[in-house]
Amino acid sequence: MQEQQLLMIKYGELGLKGKNKNQFINRLVKNIERALADLPERKVNVSLGRITVPVLDDRDAVVERLSRVFGIYAICPVRTASKDLAAIQRAALATLSEALPNGGEFKVESRRSDKRFPMTSPEISKAVGGYIFAQTGDKYTAQMRKPQHIVNVEVRDEAAYVYCGSFPGAKGMPVGTGGRAVVMLSGGIDSPVAAFMAMKRGVNIEAVHFESFPFTSERALEKVLDLAQVLARWHNRPLRVHAVHFTEIQKAIHAVCPEEYGITIMRRFMFRLAEQIASRNAAIAIYTGESVGQVASQTLESMYVINNVTKMPVLRPLIGFDKEEIVARAQRIGTFDISIRPYEDCCTVFLPPHPKIKPRLAEAEAMEQNLALDELLAEALTRTKTYIVTPDGVTEQTDEFS
Ligand code: ATP
Ligand code: MG
Repeated sequence: MQEQQLLMIKYGELGLKGKNKNQFINRLVKNIERALADLPERKVNVSLGRITVPVLDDRDAVVERLSRVFGIYAICPVRTASKDLAAIQRAALATLSEALPNGGEFKVESRRSDKRFPMTSPEISKAVGGYIFAQTGDKYTAQMRKPQHIVNVEVRDEAAYVYCGSFPGAKGMPVGTGGRAVVMLSGGIDSPVAAFMAMKRGVNIEAVHFESFPFTSERALEKVLDLAQVLARWHNRPLRVHAVHFTEIQKAIHAVCPEEYGITIMRRFMFRLAEQIASRNAAIAIYTGESVGQVASQTLESMYVINNVTKMPVLRPLIGFDKEEIVARAQRIGTFDISIRPYEDCCTVFLPPHPKIKPRLAEAEAMEQNLALDELLAEALTRTKTYIVTPDGVTEQTDEFS
């Protein structure tokens, strides 16, 4: 058997899922296949709790794609060898020489899932370690407690696997295993991070963006679509962005509501619309990038009044984070540089100088009596445009609003 290079996928938390485990693994495999769709085709294999991906001459590209698939704990480059000791020994030495070319401390750890193999795991480790010493003199030393590197040997039904070290995975759960939600996506720093955290827990997302064209420029929408493009890489499937025409609502609020309640009422409209778009798309929760105390609309009193318009769970993964922590995450995800582009958001266009920090529900409801609520909502939805965003580009969805 020829030595072959594979990537072995370790999945962490999935292991806890009992009966659903297979469903989770199947979803993970599909997501991996999608993440690799732009590379030359290959067969992703699943057997006995291991997912393996063959490497052609594109290992770095494959690792890069896999590092954005949630549900993967670690990605191990693996050598396969036929199931005889000499082949395993050779593969182990080659693997160690690559990982520690200048020598150092190591340890061999073996596992044998194929119990027909004539040696026990400790015997395999001993024989492999002995071979390495015999071949390399004093270049390597054994270190059982805290080795720099562990050479792993797994004797499995189909072959033996040897590996040493791994690339970190994105952790979390495979997208598609956690239900469907809408994310309110502004052009700011926070909401893309909230979207990321939704996806990380396996949630399939649709983005809703409120635009105030012509008060905000076309560049504002472009910015949101650029953010969505970065997020789409982690979604492992196209990401839909519903761009809601919010301008008429803002004008109506501005015309009849006291200025200090402008933001409160505007945000109550946003949640009503987000809920309706969610329902139409079989989504059952709303994510936002809110964090307590960040701005006037994010005090508990404001959130109480704003949240009151929807029965859907509103999930706020950033609720306890400081801005600094959110910024650090945005930088890691790759959305920060886009978020800080200086285009206006609809919230800033009509921003009152002194927004109400502790609004009252009864007052907000009374003010809304002066607005044609249903018509305003219906019109905004009719004028919603949907974009389908992939890592490679954006297309507008042309069929009927869904
Ligand atoms: P962000 O950086 O996400 O814009 P922010 O700190 O600017 O957040 P707000 O403007 O009060 O806070 O918005 C709070 C949340 O409401 C955002 O995180 C986002 O989820 C949602 N939101 C605000 N503006 C819009 C918009 N134009 N379209 C869609 N969602 C929005
Ligand atoms: Mg904002």
